[in-house]
Amino acid sequence: MKHNFGAGPGILPHEVLKQAAAAVVDFNGIGLSILEISHRSPEFEAVLDEAVKLVKELFSVPEGYSVLFLQGGASTQFAMVPYNLLPEGGKAAYLESGVWANKAIKEVKYFGEAQVVATAKEANFTYIPKDFEIPADAAYFHITSNNTIYGTQLHKFFPSPVPVVCDMSSDIFSRKVNVADFGLIYAGAQKNMGPAGVTLVIVKDEILGKSGRKIPSMFNYQTQIEGGSMYNTPPVFAIYVSMLTLNWLKSKGGVEAIEKENEAKAKVLYDEIDRNPLFKGVCVPEDRSIMNVCFVTENPELEKPFLKLCDEKGIVGIKGHRSAGGFRASIYNALPITSVYVLIDAMREFAENNK
Ligand code: PLP
Repeated sequence: MKHNFGAGPGILPHEVLKQAAAAVVDFNGIGLSILEISHRSPEFEAVLDEAVKLVKELFSVPEGYSVLFLQGGASTQFAMVPYNLLPEGGKAAYLESGVWANKAIKEVKYFGEAQVVATAKEANFTYIPKDFEIPADAAYFHITSNNTIYGTQLHKFFPSPVPVVCDMSSDIFSRKVNVADFGLIYAGAQKNMGPAGVTLVIVKDEILGKSGRKIPSMFNYQTQIEGGSMYNTPPVFAIYVSMLTLNWLKSKGGVEAIEKENEAKAKVLYDEIDRNPLFKGVCVPEDRSIMNVCFVTENPELEKPFLKLCDEKGIVGIKGHRSAGGFRASIYNALPITSVYVLIDAMREFAENNK
């Protein structure tokens, strides 16, 4: 077994993979593969219902919100959000806290204006800007809760006069959030919730239908709500594996319990980065992510040898994103703390051998 620190698609619980593998051959003993069953069958409807129920339960989703399983990844949401929420000629406020926020901002130009309230670009996105005002005449305020590439995270959300839209792709279900504080939450499943191919959207019904735009059916949240995420053929397998993963999370004590584990994993790893003379953290300590831990070697020539040592120890996915360099240890929900200890041991051994 490898220690999978990959950023996305990320690690899935081993028992979920075993259940999913069995269902590919024979789903629940019905003599058909999960890949073959009709999405209109009672068997799949039960899976989708259970997945929606688990999202609502694990995240304490209040009344008045719809839970959707869509396709096109979080990147489609970058466009779908303004398409649905931004009136013709209107503006939306964006916090530019990372590369993904930047990509979301780029999509707004097809629909209206994006007002960037603050950016951390000048510092290579190594901190979260906090000193800004959210314009009260914006249609919504868009944030990215976790900056997957540079490893910063919003540890507090901002009070906003307008609905908050949040890209939670890389920290969904890793910690408690108050869904009532958001107008819309979206997340590609492939980090903390399931395999690639499905995107979770949690939307407050009352913010929809106000933009005055004509929206094609597939891109219209209302159509997707009315169709129960089955306006077209949904990604059956990805929803099934997400449901299994959410069930696994519930069996572990839910979001509160996993948050404690995630904090413990992040703490031991950051402690080692701060203690070890060969490594240093990339981001300002107060904004460090508990999901994506980014660090570098003081001496860049040591990068390759450290990656080689990791490889020998079965540590995979540790190389930093191409635009950030260095190392990135993604410590998503399903990564056990024992894997973090293996990485820490490797860092210590490396420091010992490179004195
Ligand atoms: N937003 C964040 C925070 C991400 O980390 C990613 C992918 O890593 C995306 C958006 C893009 O997601 P997708 O590949 O599902 O479009």
